[in-house]
Amino acid sequence: MTLILGLEGTAWNLSAALVSEERVIHEAESTYKPLYGGIHPREAAQHHASELKNVVTQALRGAKKEGFSLDDIDAVAFSQGPGMGPCIRTVATAARALSISLKTPLIGVNHCIAHIEIGRWQCGTKDPVVLYVSGANSQVLAYRSGRYRILGETLDIGIGNALDKFARYLGLSHPGGPKIEELASKGTEYVYMPYVVKGMDLSFSGLTTSAKDAINHHKTEDVCYSLQETAFAMLTEVAERAMAHLWKDEMLLAGGVGANRRLQQMLQTMCHDRGAKFFVPENKYLKDNGTMIAYLGLLMFNSGETTPIEKSVVKPNYRPDEVEVTWRDKSK
Ligand code: AMP
Ligand code: MG
Repeated sequence: MTLILGLEGTAWNLSAALVSEERVIHEAESTYKPLYGGIHPREAAQHHASELKNVVTQALRGAKKEGFSLDDIDAVAFSQGPGMGPCIRTVATAARALSISLKTPLIGVNHCIAHIEIGRWQCGTKDPVVLYVSGANSQVLAYRSGRYRILGETLDIGIGNALDKFARYLGLSHPGGPKIEELASKGTEYVYMPYVVKGMDLSFSGLTTSAKDAINHHKTEDVCYSLQETAFAMLTEVAERAMAHLWKDEMLLAGGVGANRRLQQMLQTMCHDRGAKFFVPENKYLKDNGTMIAYLGLLMFNSGETTPIEKSVVKPNYRPDEVEVTWRDKSK
């Protein structure tokens, strides 16, 4: 049996988990909550630095209660990127220290791919088109010839950031996405918003500006409703085109914005209409979590992949298609 300790801390959620082939042994987390405004990278990193000992200790204690000891840990996995530089550097430093003191290998994990793999595991979907929608990222991906290819993505900000920015403008606290969802559920009138899809790519920043303007002339609920309808229709359009081009009949949702019921509903309808299956992991696996890092670490470790310390430098702009996927298609 392989046991992996995984550390996540690319943005506001610091999380540590121990995972084996059989199950998630224990996960512990601590979330940075900005007093006002959005996530300040240096403050979030400071939060992670203060909480790391606590969170890792909790995860290890949880594993001990289940009969595991420090000696059972085979490797330490960590989010190498993408993410906020100060945050990933803080967590990477802790991961290196743990790997040295436990005398185990280190595994640098791509955060986006961890979202995909935990979703595949949780939902039992084999070869889906993935819509990954989080604070900073919005991508449509699919696996092909040893890599997760990016078929379409945002040209500016992620959909989560677009929602959070507008929520901040309304004076709502971070994270804004769920609050916009709540307001949108009471909207009835569609207000015109720019629908920006270019080929397979998307743009959301003009949408936020447009929503800010619209608030002077329309009800807040209607603006939130229109913002969601427009942004989610854009995402659904690109996700559907990816499925059509690749002849894939499974769709997997990943990332924190995936918790949105209206987005889920639109994707479900699109999949239903084309005879495809739609998969959504539990909310705790949609948002950033240590379990997904430990789990991808486990897949990588079992296919012989580790990261020497000198190659463990963090990659704030780490793209999923930079990673050679060695744990799928073992027969090849
Ligand atoms: P992540 O970066 O994957 O941790 O996701 C965080 C992002 O998800 C933030 O931008 C949140 O505002 C957004 N989010 C969380 N829940 C919802 C929701 N129900 N609807 C829309 N956005 C959400
Ligand atoms: Mg994420």
